[in-house]
Amino acid sequence: MKTLLILGGTAEARQIAKTAITQHGSALRVITSWAGRTARVPDIPGETRIGGFGGAAGLVEYLNAEAIDMVLDATHPFASQISSNAHDACSIANISCLQLVRPKWELPSSKKCIEVESVTAAAEFIRHRTKRAFLTTGRQTLSTFSGADNVWFLVRLLKKPTEPLPLKQFRVTTGYPPFSKQTEKALMAEHQIDTLISKSSGGPMPAKITAALELDLTIVLASAPPPTPGEHATNLNECLKWIRAKI
Ligand code: NAP
Repeated sequence: MKTLLILGGTAEARQIAKTAITQHGSALRVITSWAGRTARVPDIPGETRIGGFGGAAGLVEYLNAEAIDMVLDATHPFASQISSNAHDACSIANISCLQLVRPKWELPSSKKCIEVESVTAAAEFIRHRTKRAFLTTGRQTLSTFSGADNVWFLVRLLKKPTEPLPLKQFRVTTGYPPFSKQTEKALMAEHQIDTLISKSSGGPMPAKITAALELDLTIVLASAPPPTPGEHATNLNECLKWIRAKI
């Protein structure tokens, strides 16, 4: 029996675990790991573990202790630390590692769709151009927008914040994806949003982007960090093929 570690925290990780278990049954032990940032415990088949490993060194220890044969990095494109740790740890432990890299969204070439190099650059870009922004880049990025005092933000978070937000003018909306295009359009219209700010996360196009395009809003996207060196897949089938070849 081979052992697969999936680094997750994404819908793709859950899907790969589910399909790999269905396809390989007792020939494959599947462990899915997530960081545990949210209280929600995802419904994932197979074994699961929660929380950091303690850097690349801690991950090497874990790989050896659990006799992992292969690592599939299906974390979010902006989770660059864990991806870098996975690459380093697998190199040290001499274990195969595949990173799932989502294809980029195809957006119309328009002056209203702007991609900038980072969330920091997005904050700089909107500071003097935007009046009412829908900010969807996540809790960890909010302080990046703290100087944009002239901008009113509709801030989307997974759950209600327990601490004050570092913004001057804002309102919070909470919820877990996916959202429908209708509700996204209604939310943006209700709050008279002129600019959507999002990470350029790739994969299936989320409803917020389609909604903003249909409302002819400005869309400011922060580019994802580059993938780690090594083997990459761009879709679930390629990941499953890679797993199959290793069993
Ligand atoms: P990050 O900066 O790359 O990781 C920070 C630390 O969190 C890592 O060094 C690791 O701790 C731990 N960690 C991250 N993912 C883990 C996993 N799957 N299993 C065990 N430990 C993990 O990641 P992040 O941007 O904070 O994101 C955290 C998680 O949320 C990721 O798993 C990602 O897939 C998911 N997520 C992130 C975003 C986003 O926009 N960043 C969006 C949706 C989902 P140790 O060094 O102690 O091992």
